[in-house]
Amino acid sequence: MEIKYKIEQLRAALHEHNYNYYLLDAPTISDFEFDQMLKSLVAFENAYPNFYDPNSPTQRVGGGVTKNFKTLTHRFPMYSLANTYSREELIKWVERVEKGLGHENFNFTCELKYDGASINLTYENGTFVNGITRGDGTQGDDVSLNLKTIHTIPLKLKGDYPDLFEIRGEIVLPIAGFNVINEERIKLGEEPYMNPRNTASGSLKLQDSSLVAKRPLECLLYAIAGSNLGVASQFEALQKAKDWGFKVPNNAILANTIEEVFEYLDYWGKNKGDLPYEIDGVVIKINQISQQNELGYTAKAPRWAIAYKFDSEQAITKLTSVSYQVGRTGAITPVANLEPVLLSGTTIKRASLHNEDQIEKLDLRIGDSVYVEKGGEIIPKIIAVDHTKRPSESFKIKFISHCQECKSELLKEGGEAHHYCKNHSGCPPQIVGKIQHFISRKAMDVQGLGSETVVLLYENGLLTSIADLYELRSENVLPLERMADKSAENLIKGVLASKEKSFSKAVFGLSIRDVGETVTK
Ligand code: AMP
Ligand code: ZN
Repeated sequence: MEIKYKIEQLRAALHEHNYNYYLLDAPTISDFEFDQMLKSLVAFENAYPNFYDPNSPTQRVGGGVTKNFKTLTHRFPMYSLANTYSREELIKWVERVEKGLGHENFNFTCELKYDGASINLTYENGTFVNGITRGDGTQGDDVSLNLKTIHTIPLKLKGDYPDLFEIRGEIVLPIAGFNVINEERIKLGEEPYMNPRNTASGSLKLQDSSLVAKRPLECLLYAIAGSNLGVASQFEALQKAKDWGFKVPNNAILANTIEEVFEYLDYWGKNKGDLPYEIDGVVIKINQISQQNELGYTAKAPRWAIAYKFDSEQAITKLTSVSYQVGRTGAITPVANLEPVLLSGTTIKRASLHNEDQIEKLDLRIGDSVYVEKGGEIIPKIIAVDHTKRPSESFKIKFISHCQECKSELLKEGGEAHHYCKNHSGCPPQIVGKIQHFISRKAMDVQGLGSETVVLLYENGLLTSIADLYELRSENVLPLERMADKSAENLIKGVLASKEKSFSKAVFGLSIRDVGETVTK
């Protein structure tokens, strides 16, 4: 009896700490303490398997394998959304709604349209039951095991929730996490993923849930379904879902007029780049549930909602040349130099080409007209070539055979997508890149020293390896341009302080190929 109580207490505490960390972004205990609690729960559960709970916080690390996902029928079909790119059509939709509601008053919620994979979660008595993909809208796949690894999906609810209900949301992969995954893949010589959305929906279908656990997926909620939910409007539903412990972004608004809707569109059209995840538009919904029911559905979509999609951000320009960047591990990345072109508010001059295969796949030549697109990454990429516009004097791109920085011969080993400069200890961008990585926030987090200063120190012969950092003296640093007493002192202090960092951070900082953050831990 006492053991059971102890286990329940640990579970409840860990659910709460998970909530504080992932939903509120305000942990009240350290990661170390959290890990210790989790470890002791794992130990108890192993010793007392009769107290097994499918929704224990220990299930979040994954490990279960699903060979074939069970197909389940949705209790309430998952509709698609009517969509438009034009404000005139939006006005026409509002006119249809007005007519449909016999000119009653109504208002709208405006929400962001998260670009990920839609999911339907069921909860009974405050406990996660299962989660099903949208599938064809009628039936989807039960991906519950994988979903449990996503920390923003509560396994136990808080507050005053209905006994039984479904909640719908979008599984998204935030851009930062997507970029980390791709960096890792590039390091391993694997093809980088195309975009966060496909990666998110692909992740849900991975057989090994422990692999899903490694991806920083999030679940953003936007609708609840069920009977007797005691909720009168969409806006209230969002608020309640948040109270029950779901992640509901704060950017939904209530709008009373179409002008207010347009303001929302203007705002997010301009500022969507500041969000941590991708959106492909805005969803406008009639707020009152009773009015939603009055309007009903077409065969495919609700009449009470519409998606306004932002223009996809593409531009056409010309490829003028290709340069080659050397990463800190020696991987060579070709970079397209472009005739400057305006793309969603910024002038683009360069685009990533990933590797030689990518150049071949695109059948790209110098002088070609190319389509550039801003994806999840900060650097835009070339997504297609307009071969009909190829000038007669175009010539093929010959991938370099030697490192342009250190003249070593490049190697491309079997199965690898990238060429590598293997002169790891003598190739300047590799040396500088490794030091920059070592001092970066995720590694040793050296205060008082930035990437540009590393370059400066390298160029002045004061830094030729990571080890040199710990030999720096302020009298050597001071004579450099832009160095003042204070900044030299801070630099030395920062380097000294880094000695207190955990050993795993130091190992991670060494840029050993195939040894990322998780492995070092
Ligand atoms: P579409 O896939 O273009 O037909 O758009 C419909 C999909 O948009 C839905 O299935 C949801 O997965 C997704 N979606 C993203 N954000 C929202 C939101 N705030 N409200 C409703 N649906 C959304
Ligand atoms: Zn080199």
